[in-house]
Amino acid sequence: MSNYLFVGAGFSCAVIARELAEAGNGITIIEQRPHIAGNCYSERDRESNIIVHKYGPHIFHTDNVRVWDYINRFGEMLPYVNRVKAVSNSRIYSLPINLHTINQLFETHLSPNEAKELIESKADLSIEIPKTFEEQALRFVGPEIYNAFFAGYTRKQWGIEPSELPASILKRLPIRFNYDDNYFAHKYQGMPKNGYTDIVAAMLDHPSITVHLSTPYSIGMRNDYDHIFWSGPLDAWFDYEFGRLGYRTLDFEPVRGIGDMQGNAVINYCDSNVPYTRITEHKHFAPWETHEQSICFMEYSRQCDENDTPYYPIRLVKDKTLLKQYVEKAYHEKNVTFVGRLGTYRYLDMDVTIKEALDVADAVKASLAASDDLKPFYVKPL
Ligand SMILES: Cc1cc2nc3c(=O)[nH]c(=O)nc-3n(C[C@H](O)[C@H](O)[C@H](O)COP(=O)(O)OP(=O)(O)OC[C@H]3O[C@@H](n4cnc5c(N)ncnc54)[C@H](O)[C@@H]3O)c2cc1C
Repeated sequence: MSNYLFVGAGFSCAVIARELAEAGNGITIIEQRPHIAGNCYSERDRESNIIVHKYGPHIFHTDNVRVWDYINRFGEMLPYVNRVKAVSNSRIYSLPINLHTINQLFETHLSPNEAKELIESKADLSIEIPKTFEEQALRFVGPEIYNAFFAGYTRKQWGIEPSELPASILKRLPIRFNYDDNYFAHKYQGMPKNGYTDIVAAMLDHPSITVHLSTPYSIGMRNDYDHIFWSGPLDAWFDYEFGRLGYRTLDFEPVRGIGDMQGNAVINYCDSNVPYTRITEHKHFAPWETHEQSICFMEYSRQCDENDTPYYPIRLVKDKTLLKQYVEKAYHEKNVTFVGRLGTYRYLDMDVTIKEALDVADAVKASLAASDDLKPFYVKPL
């Protein structure tokens, strides 16, 4: 039996820890926050009793049946379809951009083919190979849709002009030529009946797993374990030796009210002159519950400083150069595996996080069976 230390109690570590505990290993998890579940943490708001997602709204969606079965093993998922609205120039629109959005924006009642023709006529074909986000959007959708839904929102989200962001951010034509407003195109979609924290708690509920909350990692812990699984920031492991990897952070401003405050779970605000990016009303994430009161969170995006919570990895050229330095150094480390969104400096949806964690656990079990050393990375960050 090996003894493993897991740093972080989010989905990445919870899944790998559970799998290795079931394989007969001893697991200690330390978490610097006073709670488990990482950024997926949910709790009942004391005043309203509504389940709120403390680090931003989380909707579960996947095409991966193994992941779907896995999460359902640890908690009840109820059907939930995310339908997002957008405010642009004081008018409300359907998202993601679909036939309804096009007809709303152009004040038309076009059929799918007519809408396709319209958008094709708007596309700026003079841009042969788009290099920036702005060029990519203008090339695909034209100026009206770009200005209404992308320009201001992207500027607020990333704090950078869209003309300075790489084209790769907007990979494909983000338009549906039908009235499908289901935000995610995945087969399985849902919300945990009792919140994400309960699901992670069920994963960690195993006789071979011990969890210590409010316990940050310290270097002295290293000698007490056979191996460490690190889901903290990759650069933090090296004490930021080469500098800090860039992140965006979020601030959430609560607003309380009675009844239904905005009529939908998520409304995006696309204009540059509105300082927040979206407002989420969390009671709508659990439509099977009834609450007299309500609570909304206005979400603001800004640069992540040293004492802020890192949310979205920026991954621009400067960050990728730094990342390369850390990854090269990490490959020389012994007895540590870097996992999860912070450990590999990538944005990962929950389903991808769980899939990768299951893959890591499978690979670790195979390495143990073959008496091989465990690797620093099972998923390449670059
Ligand atoms: C705003 C936002 C919205 C999102 N919405 C969705 C969504 O709708 N659907 C979806 O599928 N995914 C969503 N995600 C992605 C989801 O949050 C991630 O997939 C998930 O959190 C990744 O889990 P993790 O365990 O890798 O990382 P985390 O959840 O970040 O867990 C890492 C843990 O490690 C701890 N830690 C770090 N350093 C130390 C240390 N030195 N000592 C001890 N503990 C430490 C941290 O405190 C943290 O709890 C969203 C992400 C963001 C930012």
